[in-house]
Amino acid sequence: MTNAFEGGCACGRVRYRLNSNPMFVHCCHCRDCQRQTGSAFVINALIETDRIEVLSSTPEPVSVPTDSGRPHDIYGCPECKTALWSDYGRRPAIRFVRVGTLDDASALVPDVHIFTRSRLPWVGLPPDVPAFDVYYDMKTLWPAESLERRRAILGDR
Ligand SMILES: [Zn+2]
Ligand SMILES: [Zn+2]
Repeated sequence: MTNAFEGGCACGRVRYRLNSNPMFVHCCHCRDCQRQTGSAFVINALIETDRIEVLSSTPEPVSVPTDSGRPHDIYGCPECKTALWSDYGRRPAIRFVRVGTLDDASALVPDVHIFTRSRLPWVGLPPDVPAFDVYYDMKTLWPAESLERRRAILGDR
């Protein structure tokens, strides 16, 4: 684990560092993500909360309604409100970090495209990356090491 990635909000008040590679990277084309970003999709790096080192300020959560009814809290800068990461399902040990907030947004590439059923029709998908209408089976797609990391924080859920 030598890779580290730094990022922050638009105003610069919140700065953070990911202290390792994420477990997996989602590109989500669902309607919730489109609404919340105002864009075509969101790119989420799934990583243990304790591998996110907040270097300045403290991101604040906002609860948003979801199509699934599951809880979703978005953590953003208290000043400029840039969304930095999500807690899906109130699981304190794992965060979904918005890759677009990294200083180098190209540093992490999606491992999977999900909810492509609502993909905007002009968005092309790379032929070499798995894509699913809705969701997928983690056990077949995640590297063993990432599954082990996930098990360490969440158990078999
Ligand atoms: Zn800010
Ligand atoms: Zn989504």
